[in-house]
Amino acid sequence: MSELLEKTGSLIADELLCDHCLGRSVAQLGSGLGNAERGQALRVLWSFQQGAPCPEPQSCALCGGIFASVDSWAERALARARGWQFRTYLVGTRTPPRLAQIELELRRRYGLDPEWGEPFKQEFNREVGRRLGLMLEQAGQLVQADFREPQVSFSIDLERQKLRFEVNPLFIYGRYRKLVRTIPQTHWPCRACRGRGCPRCDYSGKMYPESVEELIAGPVLAVTGGSLARLHGAGREDINARMLGTGRPFVLEIKRPRRRELDLAALEMEINASTEDKVQVSQLRTVRHGLVARLKSVQAQKRYRALVNFARPVEPEQLDQALAALVGPIEQRTPRRVSHRRADRLRRRRVLSLEGQLDAAGQAVLLIHCEGGLYVKELVSGDEGRTRPSLAELLGLTAQVLELDVLEVCADFPVERRSLAQGTDAEVAPGPPDG
Ligand SMILES: [Zn+2]
Ligand SMILES: [Zn+2]
Repeated sequence: MSELLEKTGSLIADELLCDHCLGRSVAQLGSGLGNAERGQALRVLWSFQQGAPCPEPQSCALCGGIFASVDSWAERALARARGWQFRTYLVGTRTPPRLAQIELELRRRYGLDPEWGEPFKQEFNREVGRRLGLMLEQAGQLVQADFREPQVSFSIDLERQKLRFEVNPLFIYGRYRKLVRTIPQTHWPCRACRGRGCPRCDYSGKMYPESVEELIAGPVLAVTGGSLARLHGAGREDINARMLGTGRPFVLEIKRPRRRELDLAALEMEINASTEDKVQVSQLRTVRHGLVARLKSVQAQKRYRALVNFARPVEPEQLDQALAALVGPIEQRTPRRVSHRRADRLRRRRVLSLEGQLDAAGQAVLLIHCEGGLYVKELVSGDEGRTRPSLAELLGLTAQVLELDVLEVCADFPVERRSLAQGTDAEVAPGPPDG
């Protein structure tokens, strides 16, 4: 402490700074005290050494005594947060630029290395945050500061005297099964009116009355009090393809949730009871924001069942030969059916295994195991030579998928710790359907 006194002696003698700002100027040099306590201790020591009184100055040349407002900022934050459930939070402050300037100039003038101190903003954030934490605790809400992924954040604008309260999204992971061939994965705004509502969409603003996203979101929004939900899937199936087996991994992002402490087992039952057997969910758990990107980038292997129609009758041996020849790499140019929204590219994906049987009607039921990203309909039809080889090419006839089911999405996401995450409001464009 006497070393600190040597460094700050002349600053103290000039009686410019409050205890907070004085203590903060040498905050990094240690002593384990808070800035205000350190400032006070230095003043007492100085006084003792000089044999002269040294009270804290009436007005601080740096902060103008702003630390006296810590309590009222914390109270404002508390009032804004009322009615919102959260366990992690962050306080940030926007300070007038001149404040940081004055701080640096003062330290330079008194020979204090800026590296020894702490920026004003950092102390102010901490002080308001700590005070707010105590107030919340007294109100029965246990919280902790989180610098990376806070559930809510408070931004103080000192110059304009404004407080902004932001609620970050809640992310719920799960797997869904889609048991019907009539609904898309996510809601599609009407093409004619782009969602505003028009005669063509019967003023719903949508191409389809319901979606997997909306069926899952309904009960989740009811229980969380969120304003909007978006479904992020690990790929997606066509509207007319079912999603069976253990289902497809997804993350549901809920904007502005009022409640985050959820009984997920009860929620799962509620969703499954509400969808009239169109959609079923399982394995619900809350996850961090980062899982969304991982989920969307994963190229999971898939298993499909496809019902295929041929233009002419096919012999079983012929079919077996063709299927055997399809195992291995397949080259696919972007299919015509998605080319309006995807660049024309050549893609190479492997068929890992393929078996099939002809039924009484002469149609084939195929079981396909392949790498993620393979276009199954085009593997069968050849897409006018854009996919090679194809079943149609090998058989020398026209072949077409009548029905497609995804039997398995072979992707596992390790259980994340039960924590919630900060999200962005960035729109995530849906990729092409797999299959
Ligand atoms: Zn001050
Ligand atoms: Zn419309």
